[in-house]
Amino acid sequence: MSHHFAGGKTMGLMKLLVLALVVFALLTLWRRIKAKSAARSKRAQRADTPQTMVKCSHCRVHVPEKKALRSPNGWYCCAEHRDTHNHE
Ligand SMILES: [Zn+2]
Repeated sequence: MSHHFAGGKTMGLMKLLVLALVVFALLTLWRRIKAKSAARSKRAQRADTPQTMVKCSHCRVHVPEKKALRSPNGWYCCAEHRDTHNHE
């Protein structure tokens, strides 16, 4: 009788533990999905803003206009390339 009662109590604890694990797993999953969709919407917003790409006149690498350096001879990816090209 007492053994049966103890067994039932253990089963209840096991059920609680499993339930807690399931809830924890669902919460973790939900958070991951939320974070992913947030990152995706951020990326989509960034993709929406038009970014002009310019070509470095020295190494022909394409760089965003914001990061590129302007010179009378054209666009450059870095100051080093701009100076090298202008000294030639
Ligand atoms: Zn370059």
